[in-house]
Amino acid sequence: MTDTRIWLSPPDVSDLERKLLLKAFDSNWVAPAGPDLDAFEQQVAERVGVRHAVALSSGTAALHLALIAAGVRRGDTVLVPSFTFAATANAVVYLGARPVFLDSTPESWNVDPDLVAEELRIRSGQGRLPRAVIAVDMYGQCADYGRLLEACDRYGVPLIEDAAEALGATYRDRPAGSFGLAGVLSFNGNKIITTGGGGMLVTDDSRVAKQARHLSTQAREPVPHYEHRTVGYNYRLSNLLAAIGRGQVQRLPEMIGARRATFRFYQESLPGLEFMPIAGYGTPNHWLTCVLATDEGQRDRILGHLNAHDIEARPAWKPMHLQPVFQDCVMRGGPVCADVFRRGVCLPSGSALTEHDRARVVTAVRSALEA
Ligand SMILES: *Cc1c(COP(=O)(O)O)cnc(C)c1O
Repeated sequence: MTDTRIWLSPPDVSDLERKLLLKAFDSNWVAPAGPDLDAFEQQVAERVGVRHAVALSSGTAALHLALIAAGVRRGDTVLVPSFTFAATANAVVYLGARPVFLDSTPESWNVDPDLVAEELRIRSGQGRLPRAVIAVDMYGQCADYGRLLEACDRYGVPLIEDAAEALGATYRDRPAGSFGLAGVLSFNGNKIITTGGGGMLVTDDSRVAKQARHLSTQAREPVPHYEHRTVGYNYRLSNLLAAIGRGQVQRLPEMIGARRATFRFYQESLPGLEFMPIAGYGTPNHWLTCVLATDEGQRDRILGHLNAHDIEARPAWKPMHLQPVFQDCVMRGGPVCADVFRRGVCLPSGSALTEHDRARVVTAVRSALEA
């Protein structure tokens, strides 16, 4: 048997999704509307424990619509974790607003709640509060919502939860996606579940859900002649992709179990390595398992050995305040996320990873640590 390439987080789709997809195809609901969309939304809303879900073409679209719901406009500021994927900050810029970046806490690598509270306090004193705060559930672990919401509520600033990586994770037994004004999910090909591309806005607020639904379908007024009172977007998910999503959500517990088993296997097999910290307040979905090398040199050796063994691995996210595109933005703090970027490696974590694959990863990492 020859070994094939091991990917970081490839799609894990089964015969169930295939059947649902073909059934949707045969139903002729080959459109951004249909019964699979409705069912998928209901399933996800139930899982996240919220009243409303709006299926969209991407997580980025969901972020864009959540920021509109929060009232973000040209010239506003939005607090954003520096340690995230660029989509979080890009959505702020789409609206002509400016992200103000904040460092992570070493407790979870998520945004530091003390920095959020401090920034809100200072800006409140200056009469220039941000229009919104975005928290990101990094690598499938929730941010500290107890403390974040306390700070946001004190100043009346809405919180948006970017749970693109975190479906199925919990914070104090409450599901990821259910915190703040609205939650954002992604079903991109590399995420915990996939529709081949897609996202969702989840919320308890019927006004937010209604607005997102309206804006995602070109803001058509409910009249036959296409009347528009505002500028909309074409952000709706296809019914075909929602059919895939229905099968994926059903398999979510099993897929999280597989990712958790991989995390544990790596931890037990690589005792000399520092792993991504797990805060005591919740249960991650273990979307990606990330380790910290002792320094940049060792990180590069790990990445090099994995690549030589035909295994895909990646450095941790490069913080936004270090990105050329955001070089003019304000940053508060920075050493924590910069250090995670310098030393972090994301290991293959897909839910279809076999025991043989995991063992190959461990062998390659060990060879790098011994080199
Ligand atoms: C993947 C991701 C997004 C964007 O989701 P898409 O569906 O790819 O648009 C946003 N935020 C974070 C943290 C992500 O990981």
